[in-house]
Amino acid sequence: MTTLFISDLHLEESRPDITDAFLAFLKDRAMGVERLYILGDFFEAWIGDDERTPLQETVASALREVNESGTEIFLMHGNRDFLIGEAFCKRAGTTLLDDPTVVDLYGTPTLLMHGDSLCTADVEYQKFRANMRNPQWQQMILARPLEDRQQMARQLREISMAKNQGKAETIMDVTPEEVVKEMEAPGVQRLIHGHTHRPAIHDLKANGKPARRFVLGDWDSHVWWLQVVPGEEPELKNHPL
Ligand code: MN
Repeated sequence: MTTLFISDLHLEESRPDITDAFLAFLKDRAMGVERLYILGDFFEAWIGDDERTPLQETVASALREVNESGTEIFLMHGNRDFLIGEAFCKRAGTTLLDDPTVVDLYGTPTLLMHGDSLCTADVEYQKFRANMRNPQWQQMILARPLEDRQQMARQLREISMAKNQGKAETIMDVTPEEVVKEMEAPGVQRLIHGHTHRPAIHDLKANGKPARRFVLGDWDSHVWWLQVVPGEEPELKNHPL
């Protein structure tokens, strides 16, 4: 029995090496495991399930194949692919998860998040996030012609890149107090998230007891994943891409 967690692959046409690494990961590591969780920013950008690029279709059918072999696959939105919808999930044999979600991981209640909501020091980003996650705004965007949305995505990306260049490092990381607050709300001692591109295992205190936060790594120079088996602490693993 094994459960795997990955996030922040940022799949895109300009990085076929990451797509290849993901397809290899599915074949070599995910095939045959019990559950696979993808905790957001799986794709670098997403403007609607109707786009159906060759990359998206390749990834969907590879995931479905793993699902059909018996692995349950769960997908959570990130800040870049929050418009992934039920149509894609159905094609990919995956189930969409809310952010946050608490799951039972072989007896240990575990909080799963993408992680961007933990970065509360970035007030400007949190405002932007609230707008992007508004269902009415999303419906309005998805109703626009595909070409308009493609143009919008290009502009958003340029704005985001320009803004992040001037930001202090600490703003882009999680706020420790927010982590504790999020873990104490459901009363859990374990959190798994991505987003910050700072893969690590952090010990902290929540609910007056020792707690642990597992941060997944982004797939840029390395393939990162968290492996969980019953009765053992989760293991953060990687290999060069
Ligand atoms: Mn992210």
